[in-house]
Amino acid sequence: MRVLVIEDEPLLAQTLRRGLELEGFVVQVADTGTDGLWWAIEDSFDAIVLDIMLPGLSGYEVLRRLRAEDVTTPVLMLTAKDGDYDQVDALDLGADDYLTKPFSFPVLFARLRALLRRRAPQQPAILSAGDLRLDPARRAVYRGDTPVALTPREFGLLECLLRHKGTVLTKTDILRNVWDAHYDGPENVVEVYVGYLRRKIDAPFDRGSIETLRGVGYRLIDPGAGEGDDETGSTPA
Ligand code: CA
Repeated sequence: MRVLVIEDEPLLAQTLRRGLELEGFVVQVADTGTDGLWWAIEDSFDAIVLDIMLPGLSGYEVLRRLRAEDVTTPVLMLTAKDGDYDQVDALDLGADDYLTKPFSFPVLFARLRALLRRRAPQQPAILSAGDLRLDPARRAVYRGDTPVALTPREFGLLECLLRHKGTVLTKTDILRNVWDAHYDGPENVVEVYVGYLRRKIDAPFDRGSIETLRGVGYRLIDPGAGEGDDETGSTPA
C-alpha cells in the first residue's frame, strides 16, 4: 500500500513516515504543495495524506487540481483547529475524510484503512487464501487458528500477495508496493523476504502457498479458486 504524505513540517512529516512504515505502508513525502501535486499526478498511490497550510500551493488548491485532473486517489486532509479554513471546505473540494491536528496515530491509521477499504469495496476486510488469514486493521495473521507473528515488512509482503492472490507478481511489482519505487538495496531482497515468509506461514504448517515462477515472479496460490468464489484467479495475466 503506497501513501503520499504532503506535509511541510519536517518533524510531523518524519513522524508520519516512520509511523506509516511501521504499519507496513510505503511512504513518499512531499514538503510543498507543488511537489505533492506533481507526485500525485505522475505516480500512483493508494491514499494521500494532505496538509492544508503548505508552501507553493495550499492543500485546497492541490486537492482542487487533482480532482480536476481526474485523479481519484482517496485524500485524507489534515486540518488545523483554528485555521482559516474548515472541514466543510475540505469535503466540498472532494476530500474523502479529514483529521484535525493534533491527531493520534491509531486514529490516523484507522481512517486510512477505512479509506482504502472504501476504495476497493470488493475486497473483504479480512484477506484470506485457504486457512491463511490476514486482518489489515488488527495487523494480525493466522494459519488456521494459530497466530503468526510477522515483521512489518513481512506483513506488507503477505498483504500484497494476498490482495493479488492467484495472480503472478513480478519482483518489480513487489518492490514497488512493499518497498518503494526508489529502492536501491540488494536485488534479491524480495527472494529473501519470500523465504522469511515461507518459514513462518508455510513450513511449520507443511504448506506451500507461495509459488515461485522462475524468472517471472511469485504467486500466492488461492486454494478456493475455481470453486465459484474466484474473483482474482480469473484475472488475465
Ligand atoms: Ca503545514
